[in-house]
Amino acid sequence: MDVVESIASKLISLDSQSHVSNASVADFVAEFLDPLANRIEQIKYTDSGGQRKISLVVQLGNGKGGLALSAHMDTVPGLAWNSNPFETRIEDGRLFGLGACDMKGALACTLVVAGVYSTLNARKPLTLIYTTDEETDTEGARKIVEESEVLNSVGPEYCIVTEPTDLQVVNAHKAAITFSATSKGRAAHSSSGKGVNANIRMIPFINDMGQIHKELMEDEAYWDPDFEPPFPDWNIVIDNYGTAANVTVPTSTCRVNFRYTRMLNPDQVMKRVKDSANANGLTLDYWSSGAPLYTPPDSALVQLALEIVNQQAPRSAPYRTDACILSAIVPCIVLGPGSVQQAHTVNEWVSVEQLHQGVDLYLKFVQAVCQ
Ligand SMILES: [Zn+2]
Repeated sequence: MDVVESIASKLISLDSQSHVSNASVADFVAEFLDPLANRIEQIKYTDSGGQRKISLVVQLGNGKGGLALSAHMDTVPGLAWNSNPFETRIEDGRLFGLGACDMKGALACTLVVAGVYSTLNARKPLTLIYTTDEETDTEGARKIVEESEVLNSVGPEYCIVTEPTDLQVVNAHKAAITFSATSKGRAAHSSSGKGVNANIRMIPFINDMGQIHKELMEDEAYWDPDFEPPFPDWNIVIDNYGTAANVTVPTSTCRVNFRYTRMLNPDQVMKRVKDSANANGLTLDYWSSGAPLYTPPDSALVQLALEIVNQQAPRSAPYRTDACILSAIVPCIVLGPGSVQQAHTVNEWVSVEQLHQGVDLYLKFVQAVCQ
């Protein structure tokens, strides 16, 4: 095993599924960087499930500006694996393990890059941003943007979010809003006539959500031709929590996952959602990922990235990353080893060759921006 694979294996062995604490990964990363770093900032919080979370912002070198590399430390849950998800296996050039692709492989690349950077005597600093809860509510990135003194004082010029893109330059991706509307009724045997069916107040709301779905799918004013598919995602889930057919429904929930690009202003759509929830007496909860990523193709960062990667034009992606939040303070692109096809899958893997190429590419950015 080469060094990047062995660091990735160590990271994979440390459980940092989003519903548990990520302290073991944060501690390993901080210890690894301690002899190399100028400053290591820990940003701690307790997540909505009561778990202790630690994000890190690490400054290598001196001065202001320079490059930032970002990765998240948490993973999705490792369910239904054929083998131990925390045990790395390398077969036919593929490194298997929970988070191998999304994104402990890339995190390992950034640590290797940090080791090389520290030998360079560079003019400008390298900032490493390690978030957590990227797979859930993006609280790690939010806290960093709000609280990081290192980021504020260094002010990196560019940030590469090292999520899997098959090492292609991604300059635009969607943002997400998820919301849920809930109607409360009263359970009873349906034959008794004593219950209150929660769906009755939900039905007009679902109709309204269906109408919005139709408009988003059919009206090209909402579309973005830079994306495939070009229309927004408006996925409607209806939940009665398994109520039997002879029981009046006590709780009815409608959840929608709404993904959109910079071509659409979500405020108008969300106003219609709020108005409908109010009109029908439903409670509404919602969460927003932050803004869609869009760094113009002719920007200095995208131009530099295209030159380094030797790519004609930047790409767009249908998912969201921490760039929704980080791009509020630093221009971002997404560029990382592995394919999103393997992210969040059982028996997830990343190409070992792409891990090595990732290290080389990030070092070229370091040379171009920091030296
Ligand atoms: Zn990810």
